Amino acid sequence: MRLLKFLILIFCWCKPQLSTALTDEYDSLLRVEHQALVEPLKYIDLLSFETAASKAETTSDLFKKVLLARLYSFHGDVTLSKTTFESVFHQLPENNLWLRGYWMLHRSSLSLEEGELPQALKQIDHAIALFVRVNDLKMLVHARTSKAVLLLWQEDYELSIELLEAAYLMSKTSHIPEATLNYVYLGFAAYYTSMSIFDQAIKFAELAKDNVVNNGDVVNGLPIISLLCTTYERAHKLELANSCYDQLIDLSVSVKVPRFLFWAPAGKASVAIQQKNYSEALKLLYLSKSYLPDLAINPAHIVALYNNFGKTFLALNQPAQALEYLQSSEQLLQQYERPLNNRYKRNTLLLKAKSQEMKKDFVAANESLWLFIDLVEEAKLTTQQKLEQEARSKYESSQQEIKLQLAEEKLKNQQIELERLEKDAQLQMAYLVIGFLAFVSISIFTINQHKAFRKSQYRANTDALTGAPNRRYILDFVLKKLLDKEKLFAVAILDIDHFKRVNDQYGHDIGDQALIGFTHTLKKYLNNTECKFARFGGEEFLVVMPGYDVANATVLITGLCDFIRESTYTDLNISITSSAGVSQYIKGIQLNAILKQADQKLYEAKNTGRDKVCG
Ligand code: GH3
Ligand code: MG
Ligand code: MG
Repeated sequence: MRLLKFLILIFCWCKPQLSTALTDEYDSLLRVEHQALVEPLKYIDLLSFETAASKAETTSDLFKKVLLARLYSFHGDVTLSKTTFESVFHQLPENNLWLRGYWMLHRSSLSLEEGELPQALKQIDHAIALFVRVNDLKMLVHARTSKAVLLLWQEDYELSIELLEAAYLMSKTSHIPEATLNYVYLGFAAYYTSMSIFDQAIKFAELAKDNVVNNGDVVNGLPIISLLCTTYERAHKLELANSCYDQLIDLSVSVKVPRFLFWAPAGKASVAIQQKNYSEALKLLYLSKSYLPDLAINPAHIVALYNNFGKTFLALNQPAQALEYLQSSEQLLQQYERPLNNRYKRNTLLLKAKSQEMKKDFVAANESLWLFIDLVEEAKLTTQQKLEQEARSKYESSQQEIKLQLAEEKLKNQQIELERLEKDAQLQMAYLVIGFLAFVSISIFTINQHKAFRKSQYRANTDALTGAPNRRYILDFVLKKLLDKEKLFAVAILDIDHFKRVNDQYGHDIGDQALIGFTHTLKKYLNNTECKFARFGGEEFLVVMPGYDVANATVLITGLCDFIRESTYTDLNISITSSAGVSQYIKGIQLNAILKQADQKLYEAKNTGRDKVCG
């Protein structure tokens, strides 16, 4: 019972302990991640050196490799990032769900940068499923928020906001670190920018930016600042946008990240175009373009850049140059089929038509306009849906505070309910364990009983000194297996000659050893026959020979006596002889009578000189 209690205690103690140990390990990895996010360039050097030297066998090695792939991607080294991601993927153990989830989450971001939206969505769904399985809420909030942002690219606004709200509530009810909460703020900001609800978008983006700046997280900070700048720009807060982009440039220069060096002047150029400062715009556009080679830039951003070139050249009355860039945009869009293309294509076609008109190529301009109209028709439905969603979002954003508060209340209650259920589940588990342990105890008890029974059986049937079967065993055997079944058999009573002298000469202990040796000699001789023997008492043994008559038995026992004489006993190599009396079963005869006859024959052997067999 005490063992049972102990095992239950061990079980109850082990369960939470195990998950804490795992969480501790991942938390320590995330601390490495944080340092890398603060100093990405330093960590690119450090990790590339470290992972090249290691065999990437431990979780920590593999994690660092994924982190390195992520930093390469942040830095814009697409090829390196991709090959690093791929090479580590094959090394990830099937059962390390957390690490696989971490890989999927960050590979998905690279897929988006590559313009592979369906692939990115598949990967993020995979990451979510894995984090659900390991029950890591922090990573789950991160992954769900990333999915919400991906859905914006697919114009699935409704699902996007649903996911964001769920992630937000989850982060409120669990102890999610501020750094993870930033992803949620970023998601809200991106959503409200897409919905053109700029005051809300700015509120969330500023919140995220403040947190990130405090954290010193450059890797997440740059995209957040970039989004904030775009939001200022789209909200026509042009001065704010300009200073925001300047800050983005300063930061990008200090951490040497070409991707943001591309984005910042491109954004500033957009502001300049809105301010009708076209020469400044052109300067910035060329600057942005100079960073393009070798960059992991979503093609949509390049199309936007080329279209801004088009817009600027058009404003500068240079339609030929404008058309050149617009054609490049069209080529890119052809290679890159995505739901948002319609918007970019429309924008491109309208600018193209204007440029053609300016070149007085009216036929071509007309053609471009017809294509534009086709696209507008095609996009009508999507546009309609988006407008509806925008209207809904405007209403919802005013209701959001109340809604979130209500939902938080509801979640708190759910949390209490969940804890209660969890307790019930733990109780059930404890009962299960008790049941299982009771079953094990009963099984062990039964096995022990069985063993004890067999042990006592053995003791009852065996002679303690020699280990030979005893009188009780052999008589039982004769009665049950031979006499009752009326089978022919013979018996011999074998007695050591002058054994008293052995004791007298060498001592009782040597006498004992000689008896043990004598037993071995019998065993050896009778091995491979069906005959059985037993220590009948003292230095007297009974041999039972199934299927033998007196004549055959006498031959066999004479051979045995020869063998006994030829063998030596104990360490002192003592010689021994023996005498035997043989008798056989006759139908209707009693066991006592058979034994008595054998005894008489033994007496005869003893009296006629010993070391002989009488039958
Ligand atoms: P014989 O049978 O040839 O007539 O002579 P014997 O000396 O063997 O016969 P006896 O029956 O007079 O003596 C038997 C001796 O066997 C007496 C006893 O001390 C010895 N003996 C019996 N059991 C044991 C035992 O377990 N250990 C030892 N050491 N001696 C035993
Ligand atoms: Mg004797
Ligand atoms: Mg005797």
